Amino acid sequence: MPRDPRYDILFEPVKIGPVTAKNRFYQVPHCTGLGWLRPRMLAALRGMKAEGGWGVVCTEYCSIHPASDDLPHLHASLWDDDDVKANALMTEKVHAHGALAGVELWFGGARSANLFSREVSPDVTSVPNIVGNPYQTRAMDKQDIRELRRWHREAAKRAKQADFDIVYVYATHGYLLSNFLSAQTNTRTDEYGGCLENRVRLIREIIEDTKDAVGSTCAVAVRFSADEGGGEDGVPVPGECRDMIELLGELPDLWDINIADYSYEMGVSRFVGEGALEPYMDFVKSVTSKPVVTVGRFTSPDTMVSQVKRGIVDFIGAARPSIADPFLPKKIEEGRIEDIRECIGCNICYSGDGKSVPIRCTQNPTMGEEWRRGWHPEKIGVKASDAKVLVVGAGPAGLEAARALGERGYAVVLAEAGRELGGRVTVESRLPGLNEWIRVRDYRVQQIERMTNVEVYRESEMGADDVLAVGADHVVVATGATWRRDGFGRFHPAGIADLGPPERIFTPDDIMAGRLPAGRVLVFDDDHYYMGAVVAERICAEGSPVTLVTPEDKAAAWSGYTGEQVRSQRRLLELGVAIVTAHGLSAFDGREAVLACAYTGRNRRIAADAVVMVTARRPNDGLYYTLSDRLAAGTEGAPKSLRRIGDCEAPAIIAAAVYAGHKFARELEAEPAGEVPFRREPAAF
Ligand code: ADP
Ligand code: SF4
Repeated sequence: MPRDPRYDILFEPVKIGPVTAKNRFYQVPHCTGLGWLRPRMLAALRGMKAEGGWGVVCTEYCSIHPASDDLPHLHASLWDDDDVKANALMTEKVHAHGALAGVELWFGGARSANLFSREVSPDVTSVPNIVGNPYQTRAMDKQDIRELRRWHREAAKRAKQADFDIVYVYATHGYLLSNFLSAQTNTRTDEYGGCLENRVRLIREIIEDTKDAVGSTCAVAVRFSADEGGGEDGVPVPGECRDMIELLGELPDLWDINIADYSYEMGVSRFVGEGALEPYMDFVKSVTSKPVVTVGRFTSPDTMVSQVKRGIVDFIGAARPSIADPFLPKKIEEGRIEDIRECIGCNICYSGDGKSVPIRCTQNPTMGEEWRRGWHPEKIGVKASDAKVLVVGAGPAGLEAARALGERGYAVVLAEAGRELGGRVTVESRLPGLNEWIRVRDYRVQQIERMTNVEVYRESEMGADDVLAVGADHVVVATGATWRRDGFGRFHPAGIADLGPPERIFTPDDIMAGRLPAGRVLVFDDDHYYMGAVVAERICAEGSPVTLVTPEDKAAAWSGYTGEQVRSQRRLLELGVAIVTAHGLSAFDGREAVLACAYTGRNRRIAADAVVMVTARRPNDGLYYTLSDRLAAGTEGAPKSLRRIGDCEAPAIIAAAVYAGHKFARELEAEPAGEVPFRREPAAF
């Protein structure tokens, strides 16, 4: 299909100083957990975005010198000629598809303790490491400032050697340059401190240095914050930021605009919607004639067009939408809007950065697997035979398996016990704030509905006889998992012995099915991700007083990795939820709960009429085991293979279930991958 002319504006070329982007789709710098350590995985990942139509594809933060590393977090680096070669792997792949390659030169300062290089971290003054490491920075003297400028210039030259087209000056997110800008952090009394002109001086000098070094052939971009933070969500406090952008207005070739509150800038969909940064940065284009890019988890082409037409931005910046669907621009260009795999705003991609592991994505199981497994988000090998495959269960694992098998051309039968497809995402998306998660189901169901080789049977609970009666060559069981009632989990590996009336014990499955507790409710969260907090919020909506008890030191502790822990805890406190940290539930009799301190074991008692156990899930693997036994005993019509995938194999996050479904589909009747089933970056020796 030809593209809808309404979207033509998104495909206009845009000049950025001496270079020109072929369209307005701009993958802003984003982390991948790959960085300098895994340049081939990284190059293939970025190259895939370019293949998918992004006009600009950038690196993650890229250290200019060993005086700034961010271990354990993985960043890119341009320290020497070897780094030039590593980065050139990426620019080559990006250029092969006609996109521009951008590099975000970075110097951490007070945010990096240099745990790798062990160099002393310099910054505007001597301050404690911002992310809690027991180190302070060295206050930069004039020689340090000269050195920093030289390092940046040299790194810019190496960026040019590596064939980058856009070189960043990174002056936000609490890194060194932003600390020079802020009146709060910059208390210097020399020409780099004091008045606004002085605080902007170093950034101005570095922009000029970069332009001198590479500006005739490379564009120089500045990443900058449009506000000083401190306002309510959606209510900007521009403070001096507006004056600074005005002051530097025409100096860079492009402005890449962020905001101060990272948890809002890239907030989860529970708290932040599409295009949320607009009120913060709608002034930017009025103070500069240079092109402007910002993010907003844009997945709707109509929103994108509106942003450009109303003069908010020139480029549609994206990290997450380009992760969930590297082919988003191509799909708009080819008039295939309904094929877009929309980001759900869960931030599992971001958790890879915090965990220092390769990126993964709930919606796009091929993310990070482009090089090491050779997976392409839009291409998959054709079927190896005319085999018929039965998929039992239409949760994220079953749906993705059926979709990908269908794409391979297999005859697929998808049987689902319920009336609705989607399994856990269908019910979880009805919990407070999780409505966008339904995109996991919708994308797959939409694709499957168009496939004539995939038959879907709803309200078809399959027993072993039913499965065998289908006569499939391959059977894959994706029957999910059920939340446990017995308190079994991390805190109680043998469950809780002393539990009161069963009708007073609830699980998230009850809450999602609309069976809600009454009276004073205790939510015992030994899961630590979103479920405990979201269930507590749901119960609050009924007017019941809620206490959330967690053995961790904060509510929903793991959700720190998705950048939502602070907002989650704040939401609970604002709703009046009492939060008891560092305690486990050890007994409940229907009127009172006994809590044990996670440190001392000392007991305390609180009144509670009902308990919601958010501890662990039991795999629904009964069907799988019955079938295995029947197959082992030798039964008629037995399939050639039987597998279990997703939560019924091992309960985990939704991303893991989608991945399991995809992997199953890729590997069915394919050559075995070997003991080490993926490629690793070659060692240096
Ligand atoms: P996952 O995350 O692994 O995909 P879910 O719990 O989301 O797991 O989905 C499992 C799905 O399997 C649910 O929709 C459930 O109704 C379905 N299911 C469970 N048992 C059967 C069965 N015996 N026959 C058909 N469908 C089943
Ligand atoms: Fe979007 Fe979640 Fe994928 Fe990140 S992991 S890109 S937030 S769907």
